[in-house]
Amino acid sequence: MDQQSTEYLSKRQRWLRRQQEQESAHHRNKSAKRFKKFGIWVATVLVVGGGIGWLIWSAATQPPLPAGDIVSKNGIHWHPQLTITMNGKDQEIPANIGLGGAEEPIHTHDTTGTLHLEFPGLVTKDDIRLGHFFKIWGKTFTSQCIFDSCNGPNGQVAMTVNGKSNTEFDQYIMRDKDQIEITYSK
Ligand SMILES: [Zn+2]
Repeated sequence: MDQQSTEYLSKRQRWLRRQQEQESAHHRNKSAKRFKKFGIWVATVLVVGGGIGWLIWSAATQPPLPAGDIVSKNGIHWHPQLTITMNGKDQEIPANIGLGGAEEPIHTHDTTGTLHLEFPGLVTKDDIRLGHFFKIWGKTFTSQCIFDSCNGPNGQVAMTVNGKSNTEFDQYIMRDKDQIEITYSK
């Protein structure tokens, strides 16, 4: 081989090497691009999947209010009547319960036992359970106890609504003009 052909080969080798380098650089670039594409795809799946997951989760944990739980959409002004008898003695229900500071939607104006249920807008069954009034009053009323008197040797808690025995006690959903009687007696 003469000088020229050696030079030619080495030139050609250099050219080949350069080609190879470019080729592998091209491949590196391609796989980097592919990796980037994969990353975008993963991010998209996470964002979209997360969004769908969040929608499902919030739908599951915050179900819309069932129509059966709505008492009124335009407010109420009802007047159930409450009497409490402790061992045969009438327990006075004070005036202005729930009107001291912030005006409560369940309150009294006088000592007649008339409860005023004055709610604006949406009213649910939970809003007008009898126990809600006792909570506002700051007194105990459950199926077991009225004030400090509980079921036991000293007596039993009983309730009637419009003359009929009722075992819902604090869970009772009040109606307009109800006559509610709570007694504690032996
Ligand atoms: Zn009223």
